[in-house]
Amino acid sequence: MIAVNRRARPTQVSSATPRAARSLLVTAALAATVTLAACGGGDDPGPGATGEAVVTNLPPADVVDAALSVITEESLRSHTQVLASDEFEGRGPSSRGEELTMQYLTEQFAALGLEPGGVNGTWVQEVPLVSITADPDMTLTVAGNDATRSFAYHTEFVAGTPRVVESVALEDSELVFVGYGAVAPEYQWNDFAGVDVSGKTVVVLVNDPGFATQNPELFKGNAMTYYGRWTYKYEEGARQGAAGVLIVHETAPAAYGWATVQNGWTGPQFDLVTADNNMGRVMAEGWITLETARAIFAQAGMDFDELKARAAVPGFQAVPLGLTASLSIRNTIERSTSRNFLARIPGTTRPDEVVIYMGHWDHFGMDPALEGDQIYNGAVDNASGTATLIKMAEAFKALNPAPERTVVFWATTAEEQGLLGSGYYAENPVYPLSKTVAAINIDALPIFGATRDYVVVGYGNSQLDDYAQRANGPLERVVKADPEPEKGSFFRSDHFPLAKKGVPAHYGSAGHDNVEHGEEWGRAQSDAWTAEKYHQVNDEYAGEWDLGGAMQDISVWFRIGVELAYSNAWPQWNDGTEFKAIREATMR
Ligand SMILES: [Zn+2]
Repeated sequence: MIAVNRRARPTQVSSATPRAARSLLVTAALAATVTLAACGGGDDPGPGATGEAVVTNLPPADVVDAALSVITEESLRSHTQVLASDEFEGRGPSSRGEELTMQYLTEQFAALGLEPGGVNGTWVQEVPLVSITADPDMTLTVAGNDATRSFAYHTEFVAGTPRVVESVALEDSELVFVGYGAVAPEYQWNDFAGVDVSGKTVVVLVNDPGFATQNPELFKGNAMTYYGRWTYKYEEGARQGAAGVLIVHETAPAAYGWATVQNGWTGPQFDLVTADNNMGRVMAEGWITLETARAIFAQAGMDFDELKARAAVPGFQAVPLGLTASLSIRNTIERSTSRNFLARIPGTTRPDEVVIYMGHWDHFGMDPALEGDQIYNGAVDNASGTATLIKMAEAFKALNPAPERTVVFWATTAEEQGLLGSGYYAENPVYPLSKTVAAINIDALPIFGATRDYVVVGYGNSQLDDYAQRANGPLERVVKADPEPEKGSFFRSDHFPLAKKGVPAHYGSAGHDNVEHGEEWGRAQSDAWTAEKYHQVNDEYAGEWDLGGAMQDISVWFRIGVELAYSNAWPQWNDGTEFKAIREATMR
């Protein structure tokens, strides 16, 4: 999982608490052939390819179990140890660690008899990256209403440009308050209705009206929708033609303090780069503190808190502030290329339909400025998930008959820099997204032992939840929703760029309810790991890891993929999710 902010730094991740779970469904994986009506009940797997009845031709249960048994703890440990070794230098994108990782993955997947799954018969897809560092010597000046006020970089605002150019400037750009800046047809909401912001600078609130009001009838209530995520604010600003987007920072709706913003939005910013050097994106992207926002609204003769309250009421209309903003940004630019790694097992009867297993191979590389240990080994995050991809491929190769659909194993790059490898793929898919049935994302194995629960991040989004229920059935685990959906974890790992393009995606892992030590112990272990090791140099391989929960999770992920790979079912997004309309448009 990436940090909550843009750049890699130690920070807090969510920890799980229980929530009422849905009853377990009997696993379908035990039956040799399962035929389900296209419109079933709660376990409806979605319609078949052309709306016909869903036919799932699973291999016999003993074949599935035997295939799964090739994934042993020892084999996971040995791959993880190699990938997380100091020799691999923390697997930074475009580094020697990348070379070694690509070599290792190629050797392993070739030895298993997989086909190269990348571009032009290779094992890879190249991903062009750029690092842009803004000169911190910049000032935001707001003029109007017989006053001019300047704000200081770092303490009162931060800003940069995604455009790959030496400098950009906002010059007397009109300021418009656009509330939450959301265009959300499924919630009958449009903050840009009746206002033209082209060339202007929008001031926008973080999170969404549902979180702001805690009204379950607005958006998704407490749970963050994508409209609440900071990346969305900049994307929508670009679609509206805005020159600048300034997000008002507030700790509760952002889920992190101003220090995290300062930390994440200053210094080198890694990004993807398009053929037009990102000229389609907003010229100036920034954040302002709450105090800065209050000062700007006061200068406009308006009350920030009153306008903020209005922004959460349906029918809100954007408000021109009668002020202008000026800001000039100078950049240092460095370009590089990294690689997504892709391998595949071709489907026997539906080769053009694709099921994807994904997990990021990259971590933070090395930091020569550190005293002592300088290597971010990323053993849990995500050497363990990369090791799982290798073993998952071996398990699929052990299935006889072979899968009906093509199964792709994709190790993504630059996840830690902001989902860049997966983001690039989503814009330049190697396999058509309309033919991609679903994606299963593996980001870090649990290391504290077997659990009685399984947490689905983004629970309630799609019919893949039902697959997870069935796959957890044999383990007698309770499937739970992410206990802190307001933090937007669903938007913070590599499945998300695919979900955003409409591909149903599953992201789940063991909860805290440890079989041996109970829930309190499990949560304490996880919290301690997050505080002491997450995104730090001491995320290293350790022999004392208890992979009991990892083995459970792997069996869940395997059974979900098997059910998808031997079927004509197309799992659907649930009504009211922000990705459903995109999927339906893609599939037309
Ligand atoms: Zn991470």
